[in-house]
Amino acid sequence: MARRRRKRIKQVRKVRKPSNYFQCPRCGAMTLTISFKKLDSSNEKLAIAKCGTCHLYCELKVPTTLDKVDVYNMISDLAYENRLDECSRPYSEEGEEGEEGEEGEEQES
Ligand SMILES: [Zn+2]
Repeated sequence: MARRRRKRIKQVRKVRKPSNYFQCPRCGAMTLTISFKKLDSSNEKLAIAKCGTCHLYCELKVPTTLDKVDVYNMISDLAYENRLDECSRPYSEEGEEGEEGEEGEEQES
């Protein structure tokens, strides 16, 4: 009895980017990033979308259950309806739009 080696060619589909970058609804570049920030509320979090190309900035308060993709969908909806302005101002008011820090490292005490 010859042992048959099962040769299974597994086709691994390479998922190159696990949805870290999205297509910006405003300029169309794949440079839109979405990050989350904790809020005081345990039911909501702050989603922050930024585009590295056109500097779109968008903050949305969303339920914690939402995923990046969900947020992205919301943002594209807003963009579609031309309502991006509604979320373009930071949720937390810490100074006007003074600094343009890349890493938003806010420290709240
Ligand atoms: Zn853009």
